[in-house]
Amino acid sequence: MALIVHKYGGTSMGSTERIRLVAKRVAKWARAGHQMVVVPSAMSGETNRLLGLAKELAPAKITDAYQRELDMLASTGEQVSVALLAIALQGEGMESVSYAGWQVPILTNSAHTKARIESIDDQKVRVDLVAGKVVIVTGFQGVDEAGNITTLGRGGSDTSAVAVAAAMKAAECLIYTDVDGIYTTDPRVVPEARRLQTVGFEEMLEMASMGSKVLQIRSVEFAGKYKVPLRVLSSFTPWDIDIAIEAKSGTLITFEEDENMEQAIVSGIAFNRDEAKVSVLGVPDTPGIAYQILGAVADANIEVDVIIQNVSKDGKTDFSFTVHRNDFAKTVDLLKEKVLPKLGATEIIGDAKICKVSIVGIGMRSHVGVACKMFRCLSEEGINIQMISTSEIKTSVVIDEKYMELAVRALHKAFELDQPVA
Ligand code: ADP
Ligand code: ASP
Ligand code: MG
Repeated sequence: MALIVHKYGGTSMGSTERIRLVAKRVAKWARAGHQMVVVPSAMSGETNRLLGLAKELAPAKITDAYQRELDMLASTGEQVSVALLAIALQGEGMESVSYAGWQVPILTNSAHTKARIESIDDQKVRVDLVAGKVVIVTGFQGVDEAGNITTLGRGGSDTSAVAVAAAMKAAECLIYTDVDGIYTTDPRVVPEARRLQTVGFEEMLEMASMGSKVLQIRSVEFAGKYKVPLRVLSSFTPWDIDIAIEAKSGTLITFEEDENMEQAIVSGIAFNRDEAKVSVLGVPDTPGIAYQILGAVADANIEVDVIIQNVSKDGKTDFSFTVHRNDFAKTVDLLKEKVLPKLGATEIIGDAKICKVSIVGIGMRSHVGVACKMFRCLSEEGINIQMISTSEIKTSVVIDEKYMELAVRALHKAFELDQPVA
């Protein structure tokens, strides 16, 4: 008998009929003798609906007090889901109990709308499991030390599930979603994308951080840190399929290099539309400039991604970087108010219509010319590259948003990701 964590995403929980199917699947696992902890997301569309209501009433300036209320609001989506799933399980004749994050408790820091989990007290959950109950815990939410409800950022239920699995030393964490595993790229953008049997942890981390929303990046970080066996699989298979077949389906995230791993140089392509570019023009090219610009941004708790500084001309240079689109207006305002007057820079321009496309693969460590092949492919499509950033196992480019799908499709083909690895 093993302790297993299941996570079900929004589409999987999208209607009472789907919730009933989730309950049947969970009941099958419990009846096979497993101790089951289930972490569901809000029903699909619900988090967007709730945040949309807040937007209609939002104050002119985004404040900490407003962010706190966003968490109060958005966390209710998951509270509805856990209760409905518990009821559906009871309908299947299973004893079950649901908990909101604060009831467990799942303790987080106080960074509203992007809180980090600090600890999980699993005592209550263990007592219920021993009593033979299926325990259902809200995804996406926790509570800070002062008792405020927090949320973990969009897609955060993945992280809740992996963190619960890590805290409880679960045998496996199964992430059930609306695709049947991790693909070479988003199969909704490239129909030829191939499902991977396994994907290395480092590659998955890079894919997630470059925008593949199939797993929230922090869930992959948790899995790596605590070595949680993690699998992504479909909740759309018939609920009564053989449990042994189901347990081996989808994509397994692996921690050992080489073992059964597909040896492609580029394993996947990720893309991200959530960024915006900010350029500070006519900056004096003197020591301390990057610090003055980015220091002010960091002090405002805004994360910066790709950075580029141009060659200077006549002692002046241009400095560009990307931030999350949600932070775009705040960044521009901040630079205009605080940095521009001090620097004597001439202008700040912003562009929210950009996207970042990345190729990811562990094989890039040992092969040269991979980035070059990417640039050639984009040039053949007539796509202008605005910024470039590289790491050991990825190359990213910032391009005009309108070319995103074209770029992803062309790169998928150029790197032969539609072909099975020999
Ligand atoms: P859930 O609601 O179950 O959390 P998400 O929408 O967050 O589901 O994540 C699943 C989606 O991720 C898929 O429907 C797919 O469109 C998208 N996706 C993006 N990149 C990939 C990829 N490389 N492999 C599989 N799915 C991907
Ligand atoms: N419901 C939250 C969201 O839509 C969390 C999640 O689905 O993982 O982002
Ligand atoms: Mg998700």
